[in-house]
Amino acid sequence: MSDTGINTFFKRNKRPQESPKEIAEKLLAGDRSALSRAITFVESNKKSHQKVAAEILKICLPHSGKSLRIGITGVPGVGKSTFIEAFGCKVVKDYNKKVAVLAVDPSSQKSKGSILGDKTRMEELVTLEDAFVRPSPAGATLGGVAQKTREAIFLCEAAGYEIILIETVGVGQSETAVKSMVDYFLLLMLAGAGDELQGIKRGIMEMADTIVITKADSGNENNAIKAKVSYQNAVHLFPPHESNWTTKVLSSSSLEGRGLDRIWEEVVKYEDHVTSNGFIEANREEQSLNWFHESVKSELIGKFYDRPEVMQKIVDLEKAIKEKRISSFAAARALLE
Ligand code: GDP
Repeated sequence: MSDTGINTFFKRNKRPQESPKEIAEKLLAGDRSALSRAITFVESNKKSHQKVAAEILKICLPHSGKSLRIGITGVPGVGKSTFIEAFGCKVVKDYNKKVAVLAVDPSSQKSKGSILGDKTRMEELVTLEDAFVRPSPAGATLGGVAQKTREAIFLCEAAGYEIILIETVGVGQSETAVKSMVDYFLLLMLAGAGDELQGIKRGIMEMADTIVITKADSGNENNAIKAKVSYQNAVHLFPPHESNWTTKVLSSSSLEGRGLDRIWEEVVKYEDHVTSNGFIEANREEQSLNWFHESVKSELIGKFYDRPEVMQKIVDLEKAIKEKRISSFAAARALLE
């Protein structure tokens, strides 16, 4: 708290007395609004806010980890938000679990929150006492957004949320980032559209622990069954999961509430499976180490390029490379030295 930035912040803040420790304590007691404030600090790019966030995280980290982290992906329009609303409400109301919903959407910077930004799509979920919904943080890079979401997961867990749903758009690299922070990966697909049409890469299908055919409303069952069979056949050809888990293809209608209990059953089965064979712990450990190395890399790169003399040297060396006075490799060595 010696940082003047923090002091200035608290002077201006409506809660002048609230220290990072107090926010953390309220959060640990399950206070949703303290959780929100803590995540706001985590998401902020201001140095003084980051210090507050680090203090809160330090207190909360030992209380994290007690949840199942579920990644949910699929192309825009497949029904992710509608599914999260229906499934989330069911898990809270019928299975008495506390559910938090987060999102990783690097595009939300441009479109001002394309996923979860439109909260009307989760109308009921946001009103439930045992649910917490938070849109994607805005961040310049996917790495930045992902790091903030990862820290938000820890905070949600410390606040007592048992199921964390992390939504991401099924295009680009964001699902790989989400995969690296979750225990279980759910891919939503439409019936009656080829996977090329759905823009889902094979690699993403391979990552899925469960595939759900959405919009399997009454009257549309035949399409859903056909899609299930064809995806189930495709899944058989994929290499086995490290977790030794077999991917199943299920179907659901979020509008009619069909198939949601069956999906929950699958989630519980998965959790039992990966808990008893030790995969969940081993995977989380590996994820943490990967994040550690990624963070070191991005910090180093950031600090390196932040120096004005480096930027000038880059301009000079680029010129030298174009004029064939120096090789790319030698130029890189020269810059680093
Ligand atoms: P997202 O872009 O993947 O989040 O998709 P949305 O949840 O916004 O859904 C896209 C559209 O599909 C919306 O118009 C939804 O009402 C519709 N939709 C979602 N789930 C279902 C469903 O189970 N049945 C039907 N018929 N429509 C659905």
